[in-house]
Amino acid sequence: MTEFRPRGAVAPLRRPASMPRRLTVDAAVAALRPEEPLHCLRPQAVRAAARAFVAAFPGDVLYAVKCNAEPAMLRAVAAGGVAHFDCASEGEVRLVRSLFPEASIHFMHPVKSRGAIRAAWQRHGVRDFVLDTDAELTKILQETEGGAGDLGLIVRLALPKGSAAYDLSGKFGAAPAEAAALLRAARPHAARLGLSFHVGSQCLDPSAWTRALALAAEVIGEAGVAVEIVDVGGGFPVAYPGSEPPPLADFMAAITAGAALLPAGVRLWAEPGRALVAGGASVVVQVQQRRGDALHVNDGVYGALSDAGAPGFRFPHRLIRAGGDPVAAVRRDFTLFGPTCDSADVMRGPWTLPADVREGDWIEIGQLGAYGTALRTAFNGFDRALVVEVADPPMLATAGYGAGTAAARIA
Ligand SMILES: *Cc1c(COP(=O)(O)O)cnc(C)c1O
Repeated sequence: MTEFRPRGAVAPLRRPASMPRRLTVDAAVAALRPEEPLHCLRPQAVRAAARAFVAAFPGDVLYAVKCNAEPAMLRAVAAGGVAHFDCASEGEVRLVRSLFPEASIHFMHPVKSRGAIRAAWQRHGVRDFVLDTDAELTKILQETEGGAGDLGLIVRLALPKGSAAYDLSGKFGAAPAEAAALLRAARPHAARLGLSFHVGSQCLDPSAWTRALALAAEVIGEAGVAVEIVDVGGGFPVAYPGSEPPPLADFMAAITAGAALLPAGVRLWAEPGRALVAGGASVVVQVQQRRGDALHVNDGVYGALSDAGAPGFRFPHRLIRAGGDPVAAVRRDFTLFGPTCDSADVMRGPWTLPADVREGDWIEIGQLGAYGTALRTAFNGFDRALVVEVADPPMLATAGYGAGTAAARIA
């Protein structure tokens, strides 16, 4: 019961021996000539994004651990000033507690096993739990023996389907009247009572938060009990090719406008995942075969490229070619195929690259710090991967990444 593996049986990312810290991606590829996916971590970018979010958000910032649970990324989030963690499982709780003995951990999954509640409460000092049903409230009260006067209870409110890339209200959340009833039922047991929602992931529309906060204010009014916390969830977007969000300040302004409708003295929480860590990793894949405009590469939807598959996200990318050979000036659109035998293992992009892409070339794919590493599986035995820390800035979806104009030649 002591061993903890954040990714089940998936092979951990391997650090190559004797690599200097903080080299460039090109230098790492030149040194390693990697035939396995190479994860290039940028902890300094995560630290900066966390610091910027903490400075801009008018309340407490909880990092949503599921987005990327690599210890180097968690440490970077903490170094950026985040002292609260949104965990959804006992495994996440144990991982965060092992790294940060002092952190506040919040158990934000609306359906928890009894054992997970008990372990979080008794062993890991978790005091705040989310719920969206009466049954879960009963379970939490039983497993924490009534909460001993220090229980935080957060009611998850469902939102109407909005403009996010991923809807996160399809599965969890109480309808407004139900949420009001749950606030009333939880109030006598709660040292802290809160209401939370999630507008959906990669939500490009700041006004979604204003609308959700207006609904939260109505629910609190209908409940007729005091509420100490409103948690505006995650969903804050980052830039991908073809998806340029408004600046973070616009989201904060929309939240401030919505929060003005809440009763005085309510404390705000946010649970960003993607916005803190997306820029914190790229993955360098290698072309193993070219068939016309199809490129077979060594990572795919069962590895770090899940969101490039059926969800259809596009990612910034660039070619890296060894041997000092020139790269064609003409660009062309390619489809990437992952290494597994499943025909669903395809990333349609389009991936715009020099027209002469060939076997042995590498493609660096950026913005994979969010829901990249975290979603790897061992399917078909393609889970071996390397990891290095690099000094490069994040691959923003501007300046040629996506248009195929950025390409590098290494020795
Ligand atoms: C996934 C999730 C988050 C993080 O969402 P992002 O879109 O990555 O910011 C926050 N809160 C809850 C409850 C989640 O399920």
